[in-house]
Amino acid sequence: MASRGLTSIGILEIRIDLGRKYLEKLSQLPSRDWLQEYELYLANALSLPEALALAHPENYDLNSLSNVIRGPRQFDPEIGRERCRAEVIWLYNCEVQASAADHVFPYSLGGPTVGSNKLLLCRRHNEMKANDIHLYPWEKGEPEWLTHCLRAIRRLKTSFTG
Ligand SMILES: [Zn+2]
Repeated sequence: MASRGLTSIGILEIRIDLGRKYLEKLSQLPSRDWLQEYELYLANALSLPEALALAHPENYDLNSLSNVIRGPRQFDPEIGRERCRAEVIWLYNCEVQASAADHVFPYSLGGPTVGSNKLLLCRRHNEMKANDIHLYPWEKGEPEWLTHCLRAIRRLKTSFTG
């Protein structure tokens, strides 16, 4: 799904709709048939909300303390001189220099601390960035990190059962 050509309202409609579907899916976690659903993901038979729900930490880490799949809680504090990327979340540009690195897909929901899930923000926008999944850029399609993340969860799950 490309965001090009969509109006802000169109983008926000997609976000509200897929955010709602994702939250509905979360009510069924942890998934009892994770491996079966993973097979469906590999066969391209899952929607994006369903696929991202497979990455939720409740599926592999019931106390959510381990960072074995997601990596450390925080990004490297080294920011450089880049601009705030507010447009990814709020759809308007901010010219202020970035001062913090946040997760595009929230860490608490399974988003890993990797470059493709990194969002540089200024102080003000970093304060505003919540874990509200309706702000997530669903319209951009599957995030780069998801395949690797789900493969790692599968490895973790199958290592317990042999
Ligand atoms: Zn900003």
